[in-house]
Amino acid sequence: MCGIVGFTGLKPAAPVLLQGLERLEYRGYDSAGIAVFKNHKISVKKSEGRLKTLCDLIDNGNGMDSTAGIGHTRWATHGKPSDVNAHPHKSQNGKFAVVHNGIIENYAALKNMLIEHGYTFVSETDTEVVAHLLQFNDDGDMLSTISKTIRQLEGSYALGILNAELPGDVYAVRCASPLLVGVADEGNMIASDIPAILPLTRKILYLNDNEIVRLTAKKVEIFDLDLNPLFREITTITWDISAAEKGGYEHFMIKEIMEQPKALSDTIAPRIKDGDIQLDGVSFDKETLQKFKRIHIVACGSAYHVGVVGKYVIEELTRIPVIAEIASEFRYNNPIVDEQTLVIIISQSGETADTLAALKEARKRGATTLSIVNVVGSSIANASEHVLYTWAGPEISVATTKAYSTQLAMIYLIGLKFAKELGTIDSAAFSEMLDAIKALPEKAQTALQTAPEIETLAQRYAYLEHAYFIGRNLDYAVALEASLKLKEVSYIHSEAYAAGELKHGTISLIEDGTFVVALSCCKQLQMKTMSNIVEVKSRGAEVLLIACENEPFIENHLKDVDHAITVPSTHPLFMPSIEVIPMQLLGYYIAKARNCDIDKPKNLAKSVTVE
Ligand code: GLU
Repeated sequence: MCGIVGFTGLKPAAPVLLQGLERLEYRGYDSAGIAVFKNHKISVKKSEGRLKTLCDLIDNGNGMDSTAGIGHTRWATHGKPSDVNAHPHKSQNGKFAVVHNGIIENYAALKNMLIEHGYTFVSETDTEVVAHLLQFNDDGDMLSTISKTIRQLEGSYALGILNAELPGDVYAVRCASPLLVGVADEGNMIASDIPAILPLTRKILYLNDNEIVRLTAKKVEIFDLDLNPLFREITTITWDISAAEKGGYEHFMIKEIMEQPKALSDTIAPRIKDGDIQLDGVSFDKETLQKFKRIHIVACGSAYHVGVVGKYVIEELTRIPVIAEIASEFRYNNPIVDEQTLVIIISQSGETADTLAALKEARKRGATTLSIVNVVGSSIANASEHVLYTWAGPEISVATTKAYSTQLAMIYLIGLKFAKELGTIDSAAFSEMLDAIKALPEKAQTALQTAPEIETLAQRYAYLEHAYFIGRNLDYAVALEASLKLKEVSYIHSEAYAAGELKHGTISLIEDGTFVVALSCCKQLQMKTMSNIVEVKSRGAEVLLIACENEPFIENHLKDVDHAITVPSTHPLFMPSIEVIPMQLLGYYIAKARNCDIDKPKNLAKSVTVE
């Protein structure tokens, strides 16, 4: 995910581009760049780091008098953040410059083809193939060159394109990545999101996938892939800037909760090809996997809770013993890891100090290390032997939601791939589970429809002092995350318990009106969890049940609980991805009802770079 802008008009472009990028920095901020026309050529200025570094480098665009250009603020997916990987990227002959948001999934094949034709690549990005491909397909007609090029691309992209021979023209196209056009008397603009356009105009044109747009200072033209002109109505934006940055949502947390289907699909889809799982070149053959006597999953906070899910899922699929451990404990525990251990490290930021130290400890002891991180080029990514990136995009809210969900997806893909290599599941089961993983974004979307129901419930429970979350097996792993979500954003004291453990002490805290959330999506343990629900009900608890829809057992027991929320079912091992959604919503809406500072809870920071 990143932000792209383009402008052509009656005034210098650079300040418009920089102002637009500033409003898109929430979408990516590891490097930035712009391209403008200069003396029949394209001049590119770019640099690693925040936008401020670029602004200082080019004196805020002063002295750049070109009235057209494109700009980018990057969130690296392919290639670490660096000056050379920053966008815009130019074609080999310098004729085309490109900014890109998204992932070109078939970039490796295209790159090989272009190399065979004598093209040289300077960056590690997937984007550079687009620049060279434009040169490769150049037939002298810009629209047809773009059309030919994007017909060869697979994946997601919003592209802004300049042609040195057409100064004043800005071209753009999108497919599964956002892109809008702004229309004004002093010029026209493209951008990934509305805030970047609002300083220029409130008049917006929405683009559909595979539509090509040509902007000049006075005109906006839209074409389909066969280059037929299309008509588009102008929409007038009535939001203010701060609401627009959050896409109309009140907080980043709810925006990010709602973005989960897209984040899941971005993380899952590129890894599934021809009925198999491809883990970005990270592959362990049967012999290597058989060498692992144990797997440790080491992480902090919500990422540790992903590890607890991972313990159940990977053990079940591979029958290799898995230990989920808190990084700050692991690092000082004289951990028993050696050459026969795989250590999986999980961190959203890739900078979590304890997790990084745990990774180094594991490597020192000879373990094989595999990291799951969301930030390309982060310290953990650099220090790990093998890295798999979640493609959740930048997460702004301190309380994680979409990063947690994409980490879960990576765990499923790893577990399933290992099981296939080891032969611990048959091919029918593999295909069935692969289909279930592919369907997760859609199921997550349906689970999000519980939002209004949960918002109403949250009003009722907003002023609680304590809450307990119970569940067994994977439901317990989700209970840990559900409880953390509630306490970190709403400041309500909350605890998660393995449902069978409650009676060994904690049940003494249950009294009239105590709020208990019981997770019961593990079909094989429904009856056991129901007994625990009855135990707390008999002591006066108010119980909210989270269960799968269309379960006769659950339907027969609805009278035993105070409220029930049902979610779509999927393969039992992947239920955490679905049942966590109402739990995130519960934390959010209770915190909202209590008027908490949801995106920046007190005492917390997004990236914990201290011990
Ligand atoms: N895949 C491109 C890159 O890594 C674009 C990433 C983005 O959308 O920021 O450079």
